[in-house]
Amino acid sequence: MRTTAELREGFLSFFEARGHLRFPSWSLIPPPEDPSTLFVSAGMQPLKPYFSGAKQPPAPRFTTVQKCLRAGGKDTDLDQVGQTARHASMFEMLGNFSFGDYFKDGAIDLAWEFVTGEMGLDPDRLWATVFAGDPVLDLGEDDVAVRGWLRKGLPRDRIVPFPRSDNFWGPAGETGPCGPCSELHLDRGERYGCGRDTCGPNCEHCDRFIEFWNLVFMEYDLAADGSLTPLPKQNIDTGMGLERGAMLLQEVDSIFDTDGFRLIMDWIEHESGVGYGTSPEATKAHRVLSDHGRGITFLIAEGITPANEGRGYVLRRLIRRSVVQARRIGLPAVYPLPAIVVEQVGPWYPEVVEHASSIERIVRAEEERFRETLDRGMKEFEALGGAGDISADDAFRLAATYGFPVELTVELAAERGRQVDVEGYRIAMARHREISRGSGEKGAVQRAADFARCAGFTTAFVGYAKTDVLTQIGAL
Ligand code: ATP
Ligand code: MG
Ligand code: MG
Ligand code: MG
Repeated sequence: MRTTAELREGFLSFFEARGHLRFPSWSLIPPPEDPSTLFVSAGMQPLKPYFSGAKQPPAPRFTTVQKCLRAGGKDTDLDQVGQTARHASMFEMLGNFSFGDYFKDGAIDLAWEFVTGEMGLDPDRLWATVFAGDPVLDLGEDDVAVRGWLRKGLPRDRIVPFPRSDNFWGPAGETGPCGPCSELHLDRGERYGCGRDTCGPNCEHCDRFIEFWNLVFMEYDLAADGSLTPLPKQNIDTGMGLERGAMLLQEVDSIFDTDGFRLIMDWIEHESGVGYGTSPEATKAHRVLSDHGRGITFLIAEGITPANEGRGYVLRRLIRRSVVQARRIGLPAVYPLPAIVVEQVGPWYPEVVEHASSIERIVRAEEERFRETLDRGMKEFEALGGAGDISADDAFRLAATYGFPVELTVELAAERGRQVDVEGYRIAMARHREISRGSGEKGAVQRAADFARCAGFTTAFVGYAKTDVLTQIGAL
């Protein structure tokens, strides 16, 4: 087992041979009765009614490969894409599930057999994390999981406890089925490490240890008041990132270096003329473009079109962010990229093949519109003239009036040895949002926002605000 396709098929048939009913991926859009997230972000999500006991599953064991998107809402990984070796916003999650059938010991046995047997990963480089316990939840350390891994031969010092934030899997929508979890990590060796004494699984400073499989022991229901009640049955929900599994099998630096991204990455390199890895900026641009290219393709195949809110807004952001990255490496256009994604993932996902031509058309229209905005903003930027730092007011005006991303302002300024008052810009944008949200008062800021909205740029949008500059301005 080595390729992405072999891992996907190998995983599903391994569990099928062990009594699991196999399903193809469900939609990226959660069912209407589950408003907790905009997109499906884990393999278990379409199966929630079976975990909660609301529905009876057709079999006690399932295995699936699920399309997932973590872009937008609480679950977003957009900040990480391009920064780490292991994060994509669009990825596939392999899973095995038990509805009141096997529990912790069974799940650990199966995972160990698959990882050390089928995948052939070196047991001496494997680590497991377990739930450390939590006084608020009134739960102690997960000693059943600890014993499970010890039984497989993992030494105690490679079974490490982590708090609720890491090893208690809660639903993205805050209420619903949940439970402690235990994750497998692979130590890729010192050459990937940060060298700190504290380096280990979940290290914040490097990607030496790669988390690749999460085993969730789903046995509680989380109520809105934060209290736990036992579910009718003890269940298993696991998720292994296909791209991460492939990265470990192929012993490459990042998920983007696996065969699952090969056609896409080669195309970006060829069309832009800029080699992947020739500079930190190029590495980021290639990775973001290949990830967003996949996200865009899958989203439009699901019938989503660019819009100023909801799912369509996430799509719009993915396209705009791609255009910005394309500009950085001199890639003339983003809209031909989905055709390459279709070539890469089409053999497994017929829906993208079916919608290939409308995907290209929709991306092209959005891209052309956004490029006009960029051009207008560029002119305005040049018109600022002079030297010295760029004021918060100017950066704000570019963003609010022209929909020009502040990230670009910062980049262009840096190229000219100038700085932008980003902090002041943030304050101005926050004030602007408050005014936009507030009473009927129509000041200059509100008029600018109205203008931007009419032009198709939702500067007042705050729904997905997180930490990156792009998100904070709401325009990208
Ligand atoms: P990380 O800590 O690396 O962000 P996570 O703990 O958020 O991962 P889980 O929610 O436990 O991830 O998801 C289960 C599995 O799905 C992970 O172990 C990983 O293999 C995969 N996965 C999660 N997020 C991503 C992502 N952004 N890109 C690729 N694979 C992912
Ligand atoms: Mg994560
Ligand atoms: Mg994690
Ligand atoms: Mg995890």
